[in-house]
Amino acid sequence: MTKKADLLLTNAIVLTMDENLKSYEPGAVAIKGDSILQVGTEADLRQEISASEELDCGGKVLMPGLVNAHTHVPMTLLRGLADDLRLDVWLLGYMMPVEREFVSKDFVRLGTQIACVELIRTGVTSFADMYYFEEEVARATAEAGMRAVCSQTVMKFPAPDADFYEESLAAAREYIQRWHGHPLIVPSVAPHAPYTCTAEILQATAALAAEFDVPLHTHLSETAIEVENSRNEHGMPVIPYVKKQNLFDAKVLAAHCVHVDDGEIFTLQHHKAGVAHNPSSNLKLASGFAPVMKMLEVGLNVGIGTDGPASNNDLDMFEEVRLAAFLGKVTTNDPTALPAQTALSMATRLGAKALHIGDLTGTLESGKRADLILVDISRLHNTPRFRRDHNGLYAQLVYAAKSSDVTDVMVNGKWLMRGQELTTLDESELSANAQEYARRIDTFLIAREKSVLSKLVAIGGATESETFEVQAKARIADPAPILEAVERSEVEILHHRHYREYDVYFSFSDPEQGYLRYREDESLDEKGEVSKVRYRLTMLGPAREYQFPSDVLLSRSRYIAPATHSLRFYREYFNPNQETVVEKDRLRWRVLYHGTEFYINLDNVKVPDLGYFLEVKSRTWSRRDAEYKANLATDLLRFLGVSPQENIAEDYVELIEKPG
Ligand SMILES: [Zn+2]
Repeated sequence: MTKKADLLLTNAIVLTMDENLKSYEPGAVAIKGDSILQVGTEADLRQEISASEELDCGGKVLMPGLVNAHTHVPMTLLRGLADDLRLDVWLLGYMMPVEREFVSKDFVRLGTQIACVELIRTGVTSFADMYYFEEEVARATAEAGMRAVCSQTVMKFPAPDADFYEESLAAAREYIQRWHGHPLIVPSVAPHAPYTCTAEILQATAALAAEFDVPLHTHLSETAIEVENSRNEHGMPVIPYVKKQNLFDAKVLAAHCVHVDDGEIFTLQHHKAGVAHNPSSNLKLASGFAPVMKMLEVGLNVGIGTDGPASNNDLDMFEEVRLAAFLGKVTTNDPTALPAQTALSMATRLGAKALHIGDLTGTLESGKRADLILVDISRLHNTPRFRRDHNGLYAQLVYAAKSSDVTDVMVNGKWLMRGQELTTLDESELSANAQEYARRIDTFLIAREKSVLSKLVAIGGATESETFEVQAKARIADPAPILEAVERSEVEILHHRHYREYDVYFSFSDPEQGYLRYREDESLDEKGEVSKVRYRLTMLGPAREYQFPSDVLLSRSRYIAPATHSLRFYREYFNPNQETVVEKDRLRWRVLYHGTEFYINLDNVKVPDLGYFLEVKSRTWSRRDAEYKANLATDLLRFLGVSPQENIAEDYVELIEKPG
């Protein structure tokens, strides 16, 4: 009895990419509706199938479409925006500020359409995405006819589509409800990463994904710094930490997993998590080498992803597959490791399983959706073809073929590309619209990069606030008389502290930009032990606003905030043209002097070795108030036994202005 099919693809080298890597030559694939009816030799299928349409594949390779296991498709619009930077500077300094400003539904739709063109052209039929306004990604993807796991981002920072995480979590729930059961789209939730989420967010997103039995997509253990911070903050590396937050209650798709140990790999395997290996992204951001061979050995489903096109900078899976094979070899010092057929399995069958859609796609087997591609291996760069070793064909596809050899793409039984002509997308307008976004983003960044302050505001999420201080400084030889004077009754001590301060001043070629001070404060207790450490970032205005007689300065501090990033981050982000290090031991008193609040700082400046300085200062809000306090400051200095000295304040400012 013959079975009825809608389409019979014949005269093909059929690579099923199933578990046994079955192949047929000449092979055929019968398609009925959205699914594969049967796969086999052409002779067998001709006997068993009657198809309403037959297509001669001209001896091309017919294989499952590739699965891009991790990407952020709308970021096609940010491709080439900022490169050759460290992950935190790139992400927190450039991507997120620009995203907060520009990412909208329109942006996401256009970016997704551009990505779909690129993905279809390079033989991808399914992908796992993570971005904002993910419902727009899902809509544009479904319109393009592609299959995807589309994950709505949730994180602790304000996002382009939500001011608070509760908003994005609620949006994720509604989106999952609306798209659940869609033939092409698997809706999903994406807590961005453990370091951009709170424990509460990790728990809530895991519960949401488990409730609807949809995948949870996240970034785990991407960099060594991330793991180090996790150890410091949580006392454990990343995988046990997220396990503790019940993340593995959900079907997890974890991107990267570069810095995971054997125990963590076992945990991932035990919870059937999928892993997305991103060779280009890990190489470009120098994140390190994921232990892919170990993961495969324990049976983890490891797929291959391009990551976002802003960190790659393309969506070419042929390139990723090749790099995955190369990395597998070089990291194990073993050229037999990660052979071509394994690399190609990762980009098809294992990738689909990593996305938790292995029942739908990833292989050519009857019952699975008809997601397939034709690859022309007859072009000159692909010739000749040896037939002695069957695996030679996989090697040919992985090491010699190019993504441009893909000629035809079908998803869910529908052609998206025929003879390299796209059927669902019109490319003509896309690049002009993308260029318009680039122009606007360029303008935004050029304005921002002009000012240290606006760069600071961009990453701090804080608004500008200005404070003025009256400061009187003096160099002193002996601190003992000061210590005695402070105890006298004219001065009422409100508070006393002992610090060790490490300051790094960044200065810039344009002096109008002022200075940026990164301060590490170590609070010392009575025994001289460190009781608290505080990191602060202060933006100081150009050296002085106004100078009163007797070297009293009115200085301006325009912004002060906890320093939440490392000194290294700020150095790379602000790119100062000079750095000055000052280390000092500080005794600080907050006092009332004639009814006015002052800080008295007795500093022993150790680096550079300048000895003792005495500083009295008070906050001020108006010029009149400043004049009054300037006189009082001089007075207080005298009371403490220090006569105003010529140009001491000047010296101190000079130290920062013209160090060395
Ligand atoms: Zn990513």
